[in-house]
Amino acid sequence: MSPKHVEAMYDAVIIGAGAAGLSAALGLVRSPRFEQAKAEGRDPSILVISKLQPLRSHTGSAEGGIAASLGNVEHDDWHWHYYDTVKGGDWLVDQDAAKLLAQDAPATVINLERSGVVFSRTEDGRIAQRRFGGHTADFGRQPVRRAAYAADRVGHQILHALWQQCVAEGIEFAEEWYVTDLVLDEGRTRVEGVVAFDTHTGEVHAVHARNVMMATGGAGRLFHTTSNSWDLTGDGMALALDAGLQLEDVEFVQFHPTGLAHTGILLSEAARAEGGVLRNADGEAFMERYAPGHADLAARDVVSRAIRAETDAGRGVADPKDPDGRRDCVWLDMTGIDADHMAEVLPQVVETIRKYADLDPTKDYVPVKPTAHYTMGGIPVTTDGEAYRWIDGGRRIVDGLFAAGECSCVSVHGANRLGGNSLLDACLFGTRAGEALAARIADAATAKKTADAGTDAADRVEAAADARTAEVKRLLAQAASAAPTGDADDAPADDADTATDDNAYRLMADLGTTMEQAVAVRCDGRSIDEALEAIAADLAPRASALHPHSDSPAFNQELTAIWEARHLTELGRTMLLACRSRRESRGSLYRTDFPERDDERFLAHSMTDADAAIAWQPVHIDDMPPQARTY
Ligand SMILES: Cc1cc2nc3c(=O)[nH]c(=O)nc-3n(C[C@H](O)[C@H](O)[C@H](O)COP(=O)(O)OP(=O)(O)OC[C@H]3O[C@@H](n4cnc5c(N)ncnc54)[C@H](O)[C@@H]3O)c2cc1C
Repeated sequence: MSPKHVEAMYDAVIIGAGAAGLSAALGLVRSPRFEQAKAEGRDPSILVISKLQPLRSHTGSAEGGIAASLGNVEHDDWHWHYYDTVKGGDWLVDQDAAKLLAQDAPATVINLERSGVVFSRTEDGRIAQRRFGGHTADFGRQPVRRAAYAADRVGHQILHALWQQCVAEGIEFAEEWYVTDLVLDEGRTRVEGVVAFDTHTGEVHAVHARNVMMATGGAGRLFHTTSNSWDLTGDGMALALDAGLQLEDVEFVQFHPTGLAHTGILLSEAARAEGGVLRNADGEAFMERYAPGHADLAARDVVSRAIRAETDAGRGVADPKDPDGRRDCVWLDMTGIDADHMAEVLPQVVETIRKYADLDPTKDYVPVKPTAHYTMGGIPVTTDGEAYRWIDGGRRIVDGLFAAGECSCVSVHGANRLGGNSLLDACLFGTRAGEALAARIADAATAKKTADAGTDAADRVEAAADARTAEVKRLLAQAASAAPTGDADDAPADDADTATDDNAYRLMADLGTTMEQAVAVRCDGRSIDEALEAIAADLAPRASALHPHSDSPAFNQELTAIWEARHLTELGRTMLLACRSRRESRGSLYRTDFPERDDERFLAHSMTDADAAIAWQPVHIDDMPPQARTY
């Protein structure tokens, strides 16, 4: 579905149709303020733009659960969810935001249920919940079941339910449109619109908007081994950098402990929650040594580091499908789980293991290794989703610009996210951002101010669209002139090595290897510098020189892949710069040259822009001063 025509001015444009974007769209149109605007005779125009058909968004891959202290589980209470979130994030969490997350989690889950999410049920008919890493009561002493689940396909349920609700509300989508530019005013104080490329036709659209919300998801494709789908190329974060904005805490990338060997495909934490155990080459359930209290269900950064320590010590196992026989995996032993129960609550995990590893988890040990999973950092936002810049020690809101979900950083995950908190973040803060958008639209004074702003804004959005149109023309002309043997549609040869035969996919693969070697699970100053050098000397120039190999404007996937590769390269560089500046170890960032957490100097959020300027924003501490973090 695409809009029949592009409006001269939108009241709100939402980029992304995963949990965050769809929640925002629903939060907006269901807000009483939106109703009020309509009752006053205004007819606000809203558009959701997505580079994928919405139901292909990565939210649909989420497996294990969504966290909430629903009140059904003995000992649990939102205060413990709050405590666990702050501790899980190694105290780099803004406590006002984390409190909101924990307090509003039950209402968010109930709301999802009412929207049509079919949660699994307990015997007495309540929403079923399972244990998840780092979720406890009584200051970590008591594990609790806090992740509400739908077998191991909760994301599929959530995505479909939200999308159906959006369709029912008549929300307009521009599907398979790729946003190439975020346009701000010259002073970077307010948003003016976006530029979008319709992949069906190759047409470039200038989309003027009074309010824009980024909900573009994560950037797992920065790494060779990742659980993320191919589309997670950090577009929204890179667009913010391109527009002169900063990213917050972008050095923190979560590696999930149980990626299926040789593919990186996720085997949900639910596998361990239901009784799966990690074992080394000696058959030892080694997590008991690293986290005596929580063992296999310690926080993910702790488990991933433990796996790396075991493989470094020569106790790793080889992936049977790895031709080089590297012993960089450990076993996931699920044989202790009752086979019928496994089939009922972990169907996705079982299917993935059977399909991609030819193994039967009821009988076989499964080789796993850490896989890049989640970006804790992103576009800095307030708890109402307003994007801001950190300037001269204060937050300056970028008028009309919002963000939510994995591309944003409201700072509830700090240096390491707890399982189940991400869907919650996307749905809860997505909804809040939608409500804030509705308030802006309804507010007559604001509407007038931004409408006025819109008049002189037109040129900048139009100019950005013209520049993009010219670029597309140039790229397609290059494709035509570089076509090898007369057939411009030939796929690029895999073994070609000249500059004209380089392609976005090879570049992304090389970048993934570089990033993985430099900063996956651990790093040091030298590995960071080497990767920065590789980007400066090789990858960035190659990214600028890329061109497609087909000159067709319609459905030319290589064109969008080029923009994605450029986005990843820029984001990778920014991430490495932030890693280099944080001279301590905290959460997912483990620097072997600075192995200790250093609260004196680094209890602060890094704010990094594309010019490599790094500022530090203090962490919002309410009632939980930093403590040692043990599991
Ligand atoms: C395999 C897997 C399992 C997971 N399991 C869980 C779990 O059990 N519990 C949990 O809490 N979390 C889980 N997560 C994390 C969670 O699913 C994600 O963080 C969350 O769904 C992100 O939602 P989102 O709306 O921010 O982004 P996404 O769902 O990734 O959506 C991004 C949207 O942005 C659009 N987009 C991106 N770039 C552009 C562009 N340039 N132009 C136009 N559109 C664009 C895309 O089309 C897409 O619609 C899991 C993640 C993975 C990968």
